[in-house]
Amino acid sequence: MATSLNAFEMAQQQFDQVADRLKLDQPVREFLRWPLREYQFRIPVRMDDGTVRMFQGYRVQHNDAIGPNKGGVRFHPAETIDTVRALATWMTWKCAVADIPLGGGKGGVIVDPATLSPGEKERLVRGWIQVMWKNIGPRQDVPAPDVGTTSQMMGWMMDEYSKLRGEYTPGVITGKPVGGGGSLGRTEATGYGVVYTIREACAHLNLDPSQCKAAIQGFGNVAQYSAIGFKEMLGGSVVCVSYFDLKDKQAYTISKEDGIDARFLQSITDQYGSIDKAKAQEAGYVLEDAEAWLKKDVDILIPAALEGQINAESVKWISDRVKIIAEGANGPTTPDADRDIQEKGVFVIPDFLCNCGGVTVSYFEAVQNDMNFYWPKEEVLSKEDQKLTKAFHDVLEMSLKQEVPMRDAAYMVAIARVVKAMQLRGWI
Ligand code: NAD
Repeated sequence: MATSLNAFEMAQQQFDQVADRLKLDQPVREFLRWPLREYQFRIPVRMDDGTVRMFQGYRVQHNDAIGPNKGGVRFHPAETIDTVRALATWMTWKCAVADIPLGGGKGGVIVDPATLSPGEKERLVRGWIQVMWKNIGPRQDVPAPDVGTTSQMMGWMMDEYSKLRGEYTPGVITGKPVGGGGSLGRTEATGYGVVYTIREACAHLNLDPSQCKAAIQGFGNVAQYSAIGFKEMLGGSVVCVSYFDLKDKQAYTISKEDGIDARFLQSITDQYGSIDKAKAQEAGYVLEDAEAWLKKDVDILIPAALEGQINAESVKWISDRVKIIAEGANGPTTPDADRDIQEKGVFVIPDFLCNCGGVTVSYFEAVQNDMNFYWPKEEVLSKEDQKLTKAFHDVLEMSLKQEVPMRDAAYMVAIARVVKAMQLRGWI
């Protein structure tokens, strides 16, 4: 998404366009243009030096017609109520397109987590729960990790909630560590989900994925498992990945024309997705500039790092050979670039369909918590595959029937599902 635009206004604009197509009436629009509930609060935290510092916290519950709100809690210095509103709105559509019985939520705290000690972080997340605990829960609203928050913090949040409730309640938070209520397969879920949707797109376009080449931006959680899955599940070849080098403070592309070995690269990558480039070069990989991944002569592009990467300028670099763009990242394509891509006839798997494997397995985590019975990894991933394959075809069918691009079709499927749930509950 273009960073100059207010994210929430953009989310409302996208909704208005689909609402026109679906001919939604005014009261329904009023319901969905704004979140149903918003919490803005101050959290006092005792710092290590003995002083007390106040932090600004948020939780936005956009719509829970289909089920409890679901969405991460971000720790970010530039957090605003409008970014949280936008992200909560997008979560409603993401859960609806994945057809999981959850609504949309998002939370945040204005803070740079790198400036806090582990003890300060723990007191801050426990403080967030002390304010919010009566308004969240397995049947109300289920937070999760996001930018700046970790599975350890989710463990502390779940513990604080359980203490306040007086009963062990693992299903209040997802993204917990495995062994502490987390689900097997969550680590792979988003990247593998990207691959499941690519597999279906290839079948639709009559492409043999084992003969396809892909280029990936990023080498964090989503990119790593997209690369691994693309080769191991589909037999395709990934010719490059890119990453932000924390030492050099710049991004690079790491390439190997006959195909990278993603598991090897993973073994020389740190927890922030930064690759040891010296070791990669020793192993025969070529170091190129940050933009090289987007200019490759490949069949599939997988942006899996940042928002706004395919924009009015960079869209011109995309090779005519590219048939599919699988949006692993959130908002990697700006609206103006989207128009150019459509004119080129590239098939786009839109972000909230392409990367909904993560929230799908988070939902499975809560289901397993509820049952107090845990599935093997193969079962988790096979259930994820079924969900994503069905979601892909629901959107494809809408796209073909309405003769609209996949992104518009995904919004149409999602919004129609939420509207139907509101009607069934008698809200509208
Ligand atoms: P991550 O932090 O694990 O990895 C990010 C990667 O991007 C790192 O390799 C980093 O070096 C790289 N990067 C940063 N700046 C770059 C640049 N300028 N050029 C090239 N590479 C750059 O993040 P992630 O969890 O993999 O998330 C990636 C994207 O996917 C984000 O948009 C996120 O919102 C979205 N997403 C993630 C999940 C999930 O489950 N992790 C789910 C849905 C959506």
